Amino acid sequence: MLAKAINPEKSKRMFTIVSLPGDGIGPEVVASAVQVIDVLEEKHGLEISIEEHLFGGASYDVHGEMLTDETLAACKNCDSVLLGAVGGPKWENLPHEKKPEAALLKIRKELGLFANFRPAKVYGALVDASSLKPEILSGTDFMVIRELTGGIYFGQPRGYDDNKGWNTMVYEKYEVERIARLGFETAMKRKKRLVSIDKANVLECSQFWRNMVHEVHKDFPEVEVTDMYVDNAAMQIVRDPKQFDVIVTKNLFGDILSDISGMITGSLGMLPSASIGSEHALYEPIHGSAPDIAGQNKANPIATIASVAMMFEHSFSMQHIADEIYRAIEKVLESGMRTADIANAGDRIVSTTEITDAVTASLKTS
Ligand code: NAD
Repeated sequence: MLAKAINPEKSKRMFTIVSLPGDGIGPEVVASAVQVIDVLEEKHGLEISIEEHLFGGASYDVHGEMLTDETLAACKNCDSVLLGAVGGPKWENLPHEKKPEAALLKIRKELGLFANFRPAKVYGALVDASSLKPEILSGTDFMVIRELTGGIYFGQPRGYDDNKGWNTMVYEKYEVERIARLGFETAMKRKKRLVSIDKANVLECSQFWRNMVHEVHKDFPEVEVTDMYVDNAAMQIVRDPKQFDVIVTKNLFGDILSDISGMITGSLGMLPSASIGSEHALYEPIHGSAPDIAGQNKANPIATIASVAMMFEHSFSMQHIADEIYRAIEKVLESGMRTADIANAGDRIVSTTEITDAVTASLKTS
């Protein structure tokens, strides 16, 4: 089991979600996701309670803090957190520690979310929308698992002066073991192929990572594991993305590779994510608060709806419901409906609420 999610003291049909709509288009796309959850709750006889809290600029304007202790406590006491997006011009000039980004880092740290899952999966109906040729992209379906709380972004010492800047890339044994284990567990549920990405030809820290991955591999003999250097991986993802099933990699490399992997498959408005720890899990679209289209009913809610699918899969262990959501999204896209961000000339452009209604209608009848 990846996250706390299933509490053995509770019925497996009762779940609590904290929703953090945030700023800009966050409330619009989270409203879409909640509409989907409501339909699934009724359809499958679940009991899902959703408690909404202020987060980001919306919280700052009321409480003078982006993340209050009360919101954090609620996130620690639920089965799963659903986040929209935070930030916007109104809060851009606050001191660094008061900015929305600081609140995002804090919530991830406080919830111990050490693994970030980003699927790179192509919806058949959008295969022509990518910068890659359809024959290269078609059938691509892999998962990038990025270590989120270690490595060079957090290592000490760090700093800069007038003459130099420095950071430290360091991984402890337990940090590599637990992310490698998640990688192998995920591969076991998929095609049983794991690629571990490092830079072991240059970095000792990467050689250690590689050694640890192979140690953990002993517990998963059915999984085929390949080591790949990060520079080669960046090329391979755009050359032949279909070769991948599960990728596991450290924080810095995952930051870059997960963006490349996501963008070959679609627009920002299509890309979901899950951040997982041993006790908690948080689901969010990868896009920001898109202030340029906020409040206009134009935002693409699919990334957030697909984040709900990841929640059902990882936190609630209900893969069949996750698959239902993905199928409903696929069906709506096949019908030709597009929000503006994924539309080509001649497509029928619809609003956030229209595409959400279409997804929920499809869920009700499937
Ligand atoms: P952004 O992702 O908000 O927007 C980039 C572009 O993509 C914009 O043109 C926007 O309209 C479009 N876009 C994004 N999501 C979309 C969607 N669902 N549907 C349709 N179009 C969509 O990135 P940005 O403009 O660099 O940042 C805006 C704000 O969001 C900033 O304050 C930034 O700090 C914040 N941000 C927050 C998060 C987060 O909450 N996790 C992540 C990234 C950026």
